[in-house]
Amino acid sequence: MSAQECIFCKIASGQIPAVKIYEDEIVVAFLDIGPISDGHTLVLPRQHFEKVHNCPPELLGQIWTRLGKIANAVALATGADGYNVLCNNGRAAGQIVDHLHFHIVPRKAGDGVFAKWPSYKYGQGRAEAIAEKIIKFL
Ligand code: 5GP
Ligand code: ZN
Repeated sequence: MSAQECIFCKIASGQIPAVKIYEDEIVVAFLDIGPISDGHTLVLPRQHFEKVHNCPPELLGQIWTRLGKIANAVALATGADGYNVLCNNGRAAGQIVDHLHFHIVPRKAGDGVFAKWPSYKYGQGRAEAIAEKIIKFL
């Protein structure tokens, strides 16, 4: 998806409407059109990058500088007991819109959102073997 065809670029530039809650020269934040809880918000850089690893670290820092303040406001306004900050990268991870964005999902105790969290235990030596492979790519 090119930046020209990107729905989030169009929202950021005002070509397509969205219920915005915050914007400045770096980021735009607006309510998700298909929320999984009231106040579900998306925060994205104005500049088009597909995934976290495509985004320059300085810009990631600028996004995260704003994320805490926005997340706190979302949580306070919705009376949330907590919130998740999520970033889906790639189709397998559930990324539908190829413009880097962070979900802020306000949570209530016992709301059942993300009830399925398929946790398991590593077998003997497996965590160390995986870590060794990852470290080679860093
Ligand atoms: P992803 O699955 O890519 O991490 O999340 C994309 C999110 O963008 C989805 O939760 C979806 O509901 C939201 N979304 C997609 N198109 C629009 C739109 O045109 N306006 C708004 N406000 N949200 C959108
Ligand atoms: Zn874009």
